[in-house]
Amino acid sequence: MRRIMKSPALFALLIMLVPAAAEAHTVIPFVSTPVTPPRGWWWLIAAFALASGVIDWHALKGLGVQTWRFILLQVKCVVLLFACLFIIGAPIHFFSGQLLPTPIPFGRAFYHTPTLFDLIPFLSWNALGLILFRVFKKRLYRNVGLAPGPMHTSLIRRAEMLYVGLLIPFLATNALTHGWLGPRIHQACERNLELIGEGLVGYANAHGGNLPQATITADVMPAVEPYLPDFARGAELYICPVEELCRRKPRTYIWNASFAGASLDENAKPPSTGPVMKCPADHGDVPAPKLNLADLFRLRQEASSKPAD
Ligand SMILES: [Zn+2]
Ligand SMILES: [Zn+2]
Repeated sequence: MRRIMKSPALFALLIMLVPAAAEAHTVIPFVSTPVTPPRGWWWLIAAFALASGVIDWHALKGLGVQTWRFILLQVKCVVLLFACLFIIGAPIHFFSGQLLPTPIPFGRAFYHTPTLFDLIPFLSWNALGLILFRVFKKRLYRNVGLAPGPMHTSLIRRAEMLYVGLLIPFLATNALTHGWLGPRIHQACERNLELIGEGLVGYANAHGGNLPQATITADVMPAVEPYLPDFARGAELYICPVEELCRRKPRTYIWNASFAGASLDENAKPPSTGPVMKCPADHGDVPAPKLNLADLFRLRQEASSKPAD
């Protein structure tokens, strides 16, 4: 372990294998491979094991391999591949200063447009995966007594093509990485809504206690902009940071049109029992944040008790 740290070249190589994490403190990214896909992609592992068997079946059936043994050997190939990637991957994550990964359950896919820093670890890990898969397949062929020759070569080629083919779904959907969403990213979404809430209160204070006459979020934002704190002006506050990372729609907050021009009066009957604005994103295990009328009353209270500057 100490030798790894001492060799800068090796260390740099290991770091290269770690997927880029622009939001390293809010997410823990993992590379997608056919045996470690994102959440909801279990079918890919099943398809891998199944296809791995199908491409060998015709050739190996002739050697008199029992069906149950054949299935067991094929499943073993995929399981060994997973185990190897995990055994190699875990210490690398450890050394790169990230939390030790628990690969199962797999995290949500980060569907962002890949950069070089996503592509390099993805290709490196999958090159390693491909090499390991070849090793396990060769072992399997040796186990069932398939002699080297044109058939052996052709089966190895098919195995390689299968592995590479299984990378297409990741490349086609930009799901090269997946991972765990930390509490900070949920808090960032809540914070966005809170800031918009402050803007709404500021707007109401300057407009006779009424909220903006807006039917959609795109109309709310320019109205509240002048009442946002300086640092928040010009920021895309209306986009959920979870979806900004995962690149899946819907990600723009939803303004409740019932509140268009509504009076911020605690004694009046609210125009809707629903939230004033809500996040439409999938926050995973946590409910997606909302901005309720009660939050606006609270924010107004907080703003009025703050000393004017
Ligand atoms: Zn950071
Ligand atoms: Zn959100």
